Amino acid sequence: MTISRRTSSHSLLDNSLRNFYAAAEEMGLEDKVIEVMSCPERSIQVSIPVKMDNGTVKVFQGYRVQHSTACGPSKGGIRFHPDVNLDECEALASLMTWKCSLAGIPYGGAKGGISVDPDTLSMREREAMTRTYAARIEPIIGNWSDIPAPDVNTGGQEMVWIMDTISKLRGRWEPAIVTGKPSSFWGSKGRRAATGLGVSTCILELLKTQHVDPCSATAIVQGFGNVGTYNALFLQSAGVKIVGICDITGGYYCKDGIDIEKAMAFTKTIPYRTLEGYSQPGLVHMSREEILEQECMILSPCALEGVITSKNAEKLKCAYLVEGSNGPTTPEADVILDRRGILVVPDFLANSGGVIGSYYEWVQDLAGAFWTEEKHNRRLNLLMKENFRKVWEYSDTHNVKMRRAAFLVAIKRVAEAIELKGFFL
Ligand code: NAD
Repeated sequence: MTISRRTSSHSLLDNSLRNFYAAAEEMGLEDKVIEVMSCPERSIQVSIPVKMDNGTVKVFQGYRVQHSTACGPSKGGIRFHPDVNLDECEALASLMTWKCSLAGIPYGGAKGGISVDPDTLSMREREAMTRTYAARIEPIIGNWSDIPAPDVNTGGQEMVWIMDTISKLRGRWEPAIVTGKPSSFWGSKGRRAATGLGVSTCILELLKTQHVDPCSATAIVQGFGNVGTYNALFLQSAGVKIVGICDITGGYYCKDGIDIEKAMAFTKTIPYRTLEGYSQPGLVHMSREEILEQECMILSPCALEGVITSKNAEKLKCAYLVEGSNGPTTPEADVILDRRGILVVPDFLANSGGVIGSYYEWVQDLAGAFWTEEKHNRRLNLLMKENFRKVWEYSDTHNVKMRRAAFLVAIKRVAEAIELKGFFL
């Protein structure tokens, strides 16, 4: 008997279910395992009453979804955004399951958040909301059950509030209950640059497979925030010429190469840290759309989801697309890129340096002993190389695209854990 397949009116969740079913069926996974893996283990919704500065009380809605703990405690970020809902959390939680599985770290996947526009809150309101959310999800999070991290609109400060709230409720220190804490306070040296370092490591490994000397390669990096800046910086230090960068204020192109350190230093002098007004000899300012269509060997989107679409996929002039952001390429664009012979390194491989950095922070917190930045980066680099090679070889041996190969490798590890443990709870 064939079991029914779940669908969703939420496009992100529907896409992630479709991707999962397609890969699971291709690998011949048993129906009982497919059914277990297609449903989150636990989803909760909590009400978060906050006393506002004007004396009124506002109740926000918060969520936490644990998709899988088959391979270890679940891991995933907490975002503050008006669009956060249970379906979005479920989709993102399942992506975390595949990302952690592929990375070979001992975690399952989770995601959570609060439906709120954080810019409308004062600092006091933000702290009260974060702490109440932490208290409401306290029964289901823990070092060995579910470990949150920052995501959209949350950072080190929110992680410290969560850690402090849980520590006080439990009457003991709980530093390993969240990752993404400041490196001066139970965080990890190297975590800030970890995702960009991971993306650049994938790019350099890819060039090796193509027998391309990095010094003869050119790249355009879209997004000049956390992921984009460090990705561009590490690529440049390996010899790659960065001919284009881009942020919300537009695209910046220079055929002779952009000085990334100088551009990074410039953004620190500008409100909201943008590239607005950046200049150097030979630099041309263009639109955010145009920069993606300039000639380069590697295009690396590190900004938003859905930027490579059926509208611009025909116009890209790159040989390789390496996804630093989550979900930058639509399924329609993927088909076009494949037909045009543009090789895509998928997001949940390329940007897994972030969760690997989080894993290293957790390891250090549990041990109460801290690594140097050099040790953090060396280990991250080795693991990223190993993971890239794992997917590359699978893709080569089974003649499938890297995105499908990454999915198949990731699902296999979770399926094996489920089979080993059986179906009790
Ligand atoms: P960030 O906020 O630090 O930077 C985002 C950058 O994108 C900024 O430079 C911004 O100006 C630019 N941007 C925004 N809208 C744009 C547009 N329309 N066109 C061009 N540029 C635009 O964010 P981040 O932490 O660097 O994350 C970037 C992406 O990487 C997101 O998809 C995120 O989910 C993903 N990611 C981040 C991490 C991490 O550790 N930070 C880990 C894994 C995945």
